[in-house]
Amino acid sequence: MLTPKDQQEVLSIITSRRSAKTNAVIVLPTKFARLLKIAPRLQKSQFQSKFSTILLCTDEPVNSFEISATNQLSLMHMANIVGILPGKTKPNELVIFSGHYDHLGVDPTNKVDSIYNGANDDASGTTAVMQLAKYYAKLGNNARTLVFAAFTAEEEGGFGSTYFSHQFDPEKVMAMFNIEMIGTQSKWGENTAYITGYEKTDMGEILQKNLAGTGFTFHPDPYTDQHLFYRSDNATLARQGVPAHTISTSKMDAEPNYHKVSDEISTLDLTNMNRIIRCIALSARSIVNGAETPSRVNTAELR
Ligand SMILES: [Zn+2]
Repeated sequence: MLTPKDQQEVLSIITSRRSAKTNAVIVLPTKFARLLKIAPRLQKSQFQSKFSTILLCTDEPVNSFEISATNQLSLMHMANIVGILPGKTKPNELVIFSGHYDHLGVDPTNKVDSIYNGANDDASGTTAVMQLAKYYAKLGNNARTLVFAAFTAEEEGGFGSTYFSHQFDPEKVMAMFNIEMIGTQSKWGENTAYITGYEKTDMGEILQKNLAGTGFTFHPDPYTDQHLFYRSDNATLARQGVPAHTISTSKMDAEPNYHKVSDEISTLDLTNMNRIIRCIALSARSIVNGAETPSRVNTAELR
């Protein structure tokens, strides 16, 4: 039997393969695969890159193996959706609010419920992006230019945000608030969220300072072994030095609907989610009004 710690370790080895620059085969006994709930769709979404990691689930001793694969390519047209509110006094300095609007699609083999709704992952984030756009448009006093982006194809490998990140000079981006899965309460309860890659810049500290006395708290990401900083749409810009972080409430060790067809709106805590959106706006105040600029990611330190 795998202890939760063993499970974490195996998962973390598998997850860290995503950024490795070699092909690999990981041999797993079938009961481990079952325990870790490794579903074919999860493999596809997590390991798509130039290099492949193949999970071989078997109970037989493996001395040699042969792999054959066929590829079926089809052309799909995809688009990011972007809105811009030009800055009043610092129009050349950009602040980005983003989320992804794609999810895992449809599983035709599931006869009970074939649709992956992705209510939490990441309709909750795109809801925040739209609400914030509405809010700042109404305020009409943003010093910096605000960019609101809903990305496509995050689950397939961050294609939408990668394309987006190459459309402008990253030096002009002062901060990126990527919002992922804020529909459930975090491990600390209501009115709290966490910031991935907290130690990579001082943006987290700025946000925490802006939240002092508001009743909201932002924490550093408690799931660092899951490499969340590199797994969402903030990663491409962060790799170019932009203070680009993901804000989330998702309990990565205990979200029963994560990447399942059961990620439905009925499972979300909309009251808390609405408060978290407000909390993001409060935390961003000094960055939106141009008073503070977070330090940049040291790209030399990144893998
Ligand atoms: Zn997501």
